Amino acid sequence: MIYNPQIYKIKDEAMKPFIDSKEIHDFLNNSKSDAESVRAIIQKSLNKNRLSLEETAILINAEDPELIEEIKRGAQKLKKDVYGDRIVLFAPLYIGNLCTNNCQYCGFRVDNKEQVRKTLNTEEIIKEVKALEDSGHKRLILVYGEHPKYSPEFIAESVREVYKVKSGKGEIRRVNINAAPLSIEGFRTVKESGIGTYQVFQETYNPETYANVHLSGAKRDFDNRLTSLDRAQEAGIDDVGIGALFGLYDWRYEVLALVRHVNHFEAVYNVGPHTISFPRIQNASSLNITDEHFVSDEDFVKLVAILRLAVPYTGMILTAREPEHIRNEVLTFGVSQIDGGTNIELSGYSAHKEEQNLNAEQFEIMDKRTLAQVIKELIETDYLPSFCTACYRLGRTGEHFMEFSVPGFIKRFCGPNAMLTLAEYLEDYADADTKEKGYKSIYRKIETEEILNKEQLLEKLEKVRKGERDLYF
Ligand code: SAM
Ligand code: SF4
Repeated sequence: MIYNPQIYKIKDEAMKPFIDSKEIHDFLNNSKSDAESVRAIIQKSLNKNRLSLEETAILINAEDPELIEEIKRGAQKLKKDVYGDRIVLFAPLYIGNLCTNNCQYCGFRVDNKEQVRKTLNTEEIIKEVKALEDSGHKRLILVYGEHPKYSPEFIAESVREVYKVKSGKGEIRRVNINAAPLSIEGFRTVKESGIGTYQVFQETYNPETYANVHLSGAKRDFDNRLTSLDRAQEAGIDDVGIGALFGLYDWRYEVLALVRHVNHFEAVYNVGPHTISFPRIQNASSLNITDEHFVSDEDFVKLVAILRLAVPYTGMILTAREPEHIRNEVLTFGVSQIDGGTNIELSGYSAHKEEQNLNAEQFEIMDKRTLAQVIKELIETDYLPSFCTACYRLGRTGEHFMEFSVPGFIKRFCGPNAMLTLAEYLEDYADADTKEKGYKSIYRKIETEEILNKEQLLEKLEKVRKGERDLYF
C-alpha cells in the first residue's frame, strides 16, 4: 500500500483536497450530452473500464428519455454480462443509538429528545443474533451512533459477541460495520475483531450543505469524515464502503463526488472501495431537512444506473429504505447486495416487532418484507440469493474487483458458492414451496449455465442436503 502523507495534512496549503466542489460543478456545467458520446461512454463501461468524471457528467446530463433508456439498458447489460443473477443478502443490527452529533436528517441526533435511547448489552445482542440466525441470516452489518461509549474496544467486543452466537445450524460468518470515523489505531482495534467491510458515508460531499446539516458534534468536521476511510486503509481494512445520503444536495453533484472518491482510492491504494451505498432520505423523528433536493423515483433509478456504469467493478448496496417496487427495478441495474427482513428498532428482531416506532428508530423503512418473502421472490424472478462469505474468509479481499477482472472467477467461485449457501438456507429455513422452487432453480442453472467445477459442485450440494454445512470453493 502506498503511504500518502498528504492525506493526513489535508488542511495543509500544499495539499489539494480530493473533493473540489468547483471542479465537480465545472464538470457538471460544461459536459455536453449528445447521443453519440453517451453511446460511446456506455460502450466503454461495457468494455469493463471505469468512467472518468467528465464521462460520468455526460451521462448525468443526458435528458432525452430515449438516451436515459439506453443508459439503463447499458447498466442492465453490464450487470447481466459481468455479475449474472446473484444477490447477496444481509441484515442490519443496531447496537446502540446514543449519539453526540446533530445531523438534521437523523432520528438519533442529540437534539431529538423524543428518541428513546438504548444500547444493547451482551445478553440482548445474543438474543438479536439468535433471532437473525433463526431466520437464516449469515451476514450482518452492525450499526452504532457516535458516542464515547462506542469506543473501538466496545465495537470490537460487540463484533466478537456476534461471532460467538450459534443457534441450531445458524452462525454469522461475516460482520460489517457502519459507525463513526475512527483513528488509525481505533480502526486497527476493530479490524482485529474480524470485521468485513467498514462503511462511513460522507452524507454530502458539498462542504456548505455539510455544514448546514451537521450542526454540532465531531461529525461537523467534513475533512475528518472524508479522510476516515484512508485511515481505515492505513489500519489494514481494505474493504471499505462509501456512500452519500441522497436528498441533502443536488444528486448530480453527489454522484460525481462518489466517483471522485473512488478515483482517490484507486490512485492511492490501487483498489477502489468495496461497496457504494446510495440511501435516500426517509422520514425520521424530528427530521429537519427541506425537500429542495429530494430525489424523485425517476432520478433515483437513473442515478443508480449511472453509478453502475461509472464504477463497473464495485459492489452496490440497496436497503429497505426503498419500497419494494423501486428495489425490484434497480436490482436489474447491478445492485449486488440487499437487506431482507430488516428491523431497525433496538431489540426489534427478538421482539418480532412489526410496526415501526420512529421515536425508537433512526428512520422509516419502506420494504417490510421478511427474509423468507424476499428470498422466495428473488427465486421466483430467477435471481440467485446468496449468503456467500467465502472470499472474505479465504483472505480473497477485493473480491468484487476479482469477480470483475479475473476471467472465470464468477463461474468458478461466486456462482457455485451462492448455490451452496442457498441450499443451506433451503434445508434449514425455507418452507416447502420455497425449497422446491429453490432447488429447481439451482439445478436448472447448473444445467444451463457455464460453471467451471460442476462435478465438485454437485458433490458438495449432495453433502449439504445430507447435513454438512459451510462448504465453499
Ligand atoms: N453514526 C454513524 C455515522 O453517522 O456514520 C452511523 C451511521 S447511521 C446509523 C447510518 C446511515 O444512515 C447514515 O450514515 C446516513 O447516511 C443514514 N441515514 C441517517 N438518517 C437517515 C434518514 N432519515 N433516512 C435515510 N437514511 C438516513
Ligand atoms: Fe448520530 Fe450517525 Fe445519526 Fe448523525 S447519522 S445523528 S452521527 S447516528
